[in-house]
Amino acid sequence: MPYTYDDQNIFAKILRGEIPNNTVLETDHCLAFNDIQPQAPVHVLVIPKGPYVNYDHFAAAASDAEVADFTRTVGEVCRITGVQPGDGGGGYRLISNTGRDGVQEVPHLHVHILGGRVMGRMVS
Ligand code: C5P
Repeated sequence: MPYTYDDQNIFAKILRGEIPNNTVLETDHCLAFNDIQPQAPVHVLVIPKGPYVNYDHFAAAASDAEVADFTRTVGEVCRITGVQPGDGGGGYRLISNTGRDGVQEVPHLHVHILGGRVMGRMVS
């Protein structure tokens, strides 16, 4: 499906340095930063630097290098923030709200990493 990327979205502005962010990790293809309205003790957003609207767009159009970097960045942020269960943390939840029904607010792919507390059951 073709997507039109809005380069005025707030994460595009963060990537251009026009809006500040609290960076957790930056890689060749990704930026991870703390959410400004955290829903858990650990709430980090991971975004690709490329212009991808959502997960569907990214999966179809991103290079293998971008996909690998994104996947590994999510894992690395979980280790950095101490929620990685393999390192003794309690675990985490990954969410990527996508499109209208997913109630996606910012039209630039982002994965939420939530941890540091026991999550509620996913019911809605
Ligand atoms: O998945 P969704 O699009 O609803 O999430 C957008 C997220 O971006 C929100 O959790 C919001 O707090 C976060 N945000 C941010 N920094 C901004 C603007 C939004 O962390 N400057």
